Amino acid sequence: MKLFDNHCHLEELFRKGVLEKELAEARAAGINGWFSSALCSDEYAWHLKQNIEGMIWCAGIHPNYEKSSEEDFGFLVNLCEAGVLSGIGEIGLDSRNPDDDGQKSILLKQLELARDFELPVIFHVVKRYYDLYKLLKDNFPKIRGWLHGFNGSLAIMEAFSNLELGFSLNARLPEPEVVKRIISRGNWQIETDAPYALPKNLKADHNSLKNLVFVKSEIENITGGNLWK
Ligand SMILES: [Zn+2]
Repeated sequence: MKLFDNHCHLEELFRKGVLEKELAEARAAGINGWFSSALCSDEYAWHLKQNIEGMIWCAGIHPNYEKSSEEDFGFLVNLCEAGVLSGIGEIGLDSRNPDDDGQKSILLKQLELARDFELPVIFHVVKRYYDLYKLLKDNFPKIRGWLHGFNGSLAIMEAFSNLELGFSLNARLPEPEVVKRIISRGNWQIETDAPYALPKNLKADHNSLKNLVFVKSEIENITGGNLWK
């Protein structure tokens, strides 16, 4: 059995000085793939230089990350043209950012880019699921990709199920009934979001790549089945 971490931030673990150790521990725990997320030009440049076995990556302008800037858009276009990305992200809407028009306009620009280059999108959403759903349904109904760290309600999950997006689950899981519906619908993945999204019962200053196994076992506890054979 091999596990794939559908969302994490390898450059941030590198900056903490723990990346090599964490990759080794994760490999020992049966994890052999990582979808790393680059959120600003420094992080794009770092990912471009890496040659980490099992790593794919996405780049985007995040709606609420202090280092993300609309000025990175040109670099993002270059990356699309170079064919090095496996997705655009993480991008989306975040209720903590008071500049609503600003975050919507940069989101739309990036959705057009994803459409033009036929790349999947990795969405980051904080308390704006319905706004995002409406925007996608009206403008990009064929969008592919993932709602990363999905923890919405059953009603939100059912709405998004009308689109072709998948659900990516981390330790901040939605309610058990929502998890069960997501698993039975299909098109889902698991992620750590390391160094973010530390499982609540663990004491550490950041989340680690090896903790993907906790997400796996939590989901199996909820569904009562062995989902990874
Ligand atoms: Zn993330």
